Formats: sequence, structure tokens, C-alpha cells
Amino acid sequence: MTPDLMEDGARRIAKIARPAPTGQTESGGRAAGFSRVAVPGAVDVAHGRILYLEDVHVSFDGFKAINGLNLDIAPGELRCIIGPNGAGKTTMMDIITGKTRPDQGTVFFGSTIDLLRHNEPEIASLGIGRKFQKPTVFEQLSVFENLELALKTHKGVPSSLFFRLDSAQQDRLAEVLHTIHLAASVRRMAGNLSHGQKQWLEIGMLLMQEPQLLLLDEPVAGMTDEETVRTAELFLTLKGKHSLMVVEHDMSFIRTISEKVTVLCDGAVLAEGTLDQVQGDERVIEVYLGR
Ligand code: ADP
Ligand code: MG
Repeated sequence: MTPDLMEDGARRIAKIARPAPTGQTESGGRAAGFSRVAVPGAVDVAHGRILYLEDVHVSFDGFKAINGLNLDIAPGELRCIIGPNGAGKTTMMDIITGKTRPDQGTVFFGSTIDLLRHNEPEIASLGIGRKFQKPTVFEQLSVFENLELALKTHKGVPSSLFFRLDSAQQDRLAEVLHTIHLAASVRRMAGNLSHGQKQWLEIGMLLMQEPQLLLLDEPVAGMTDEETVRTAELFLTLKGKHSLMVVEHDMSFIRTISEKVTVLCDGAVLAEGTLDQVQGDERVIEVYLGR
């Protein structure tokens, strides 16, 4: 890979890491209490929660996309979120990651970090990693280079060509490669990987940043059955070391990985419990069968 290409890749990641122009102004309480120092690893989970949402509301042109949402996730938990299209699942992730600002409500990471006082890159550096639906790996870089780049940009040295991984970082990269089942493909160009492998690589890029909470939006969409099974295995190995929030429509996948399932509908929690409990809930059946 040429230095130019490396620099170009790093610039593109740095650009992705910047908040998207949403038309929102950094006004009000957010700007006033803005914290520039985001300290990863400082999240306080002594009260038994890694993520806490209370009475969150968001309207888009008068339409209530999120309407009184409450959610509580324990450290190391793997929470599955299901719900019909338009329920507000992606918007909920947008709020947690700072992409969308709620009109009202409380959003805490651990018991001390008020996420509404942080912007999108700060929230990422605090230890919340997000995986969007489409893989966004750098196709012209190798698997190794993608993982290395994820670490570099996280460390805030996007333009350094002389950055070398220290031995702890090398160990981490090797561990991540093994976790995402790509150790045998380390030198392959990301563009030559299957769709499922690209998704795993992107999860690996998030893991390089050692997030405490991972948000995954429809991670097995478009995967083959075999890739879906391996993704379930992957998530089960991540559970405990990380907290995970997984939005997915594939019920057999949910059944394999789920403990507690939250059903979202009309921007609020409709039901919560095991998959069997929520699938047996009259209100959930009604929503899925159509009203
Ligand atoms: P889900 O992910 O559960 O399918 P979304 O969170 O994407 O649902 O969307 C919830 C609702 O909010 C939908 O009706 C969607 O059209 C609307 N919505 C989401 N984002 C915006 C936006 N930026 N502007 C206007 N409406 C939006
Ligand atoms: Mg969605």
C-alpha cells in the first residue's frame, strides 16, 4: 500500500468520525456543558447499568419517532431489540451515539456520563461503538490495514505514517483477528471478502477501539445462513466482555443469541422479556400481524 493511499484512508475515517451535518445547532444545555475530555474506561457501572434511557422523546416535523422511551442495559448484557419498521430502533441508536439530539429525556452511559452533554466523536471515544447496516470497510486495504487504521484513528494520529503498533496493540490485533474469524485472511484485500466477512471486519474495527458498549443495527441482513450462524457465535463470545445492543429482524438469529428481548413500537417499549414471553404477548402479536 502506498503512503498516499494510507493517508487517504485515514482522512476518510476521520471524516466519518465527524458528526454528520444534521442542521442541529449546538445550542442550549449541550453547548454550555460541553465536555472536550472524553476518557475511555471511566464509565461507572457500580449501579448495575451500562446504559440508561428515561422518558426520551424525539419528533421529526411533529411526528413522534421516539415517544417516552425507557431502557436499562446491564454491563455485559446482550440485549436484542425487535420491532416493526418505523418503530424507532435506528433513531434510538442515533440518540445514544449523539447523531440525533432528543427533545426531552435522560440518556446516561454508566451512572455518571450524561451522553446528552457529548457530541458524536466524543461518545465514540468514551467507549460506545456503532455498526451501521452496510459494511464500511476500506475495500482497497488489507484486513490487517483496516484493523490497524481503526486503532490509529481512534488514537487520534490519522496522518502519522510512522505509527507503529506496540506489542500490546499487536496482541490486540491478533486477538481481534481470531475473534472475527479472519486470521487466515489477514493479508487479503477487504474488497475481496464476502459480505459476511466484511461485516465481521467492521465489527473487528470497532473491537480494536475496545468499546464497552456495541450497538449493532441489523448485523446479519444479507448474510448467508452459515455466516449468520457464525455471527451468532461471534456475538456470544463478545457478550460479557462488552455490552451489546443488537437490532435484528431475523428471529432464528435472535433466538440463538437472546436473553432479554425488548420490543419497540411507535417509539416506546411495548414489551420486554425472553423471546418466548414477548412472542406470546397479545400486544406484540397484534403489532406483528398488523393492526
Ligand atoms: P426503525 O429503525 O425501527 O425501522 P427508524 O428509527 O428508522 O425506525 O424510524 C422511526 C420513524 O422516524 C420512521 O417513521 C421514520 O420515517 C422517522 N424518521 C427517522 N429519522 C428521521 C428523520 N431524520 N427525519 C424525519 N423522519 C425520520
Ligand atoms: Mg432501522
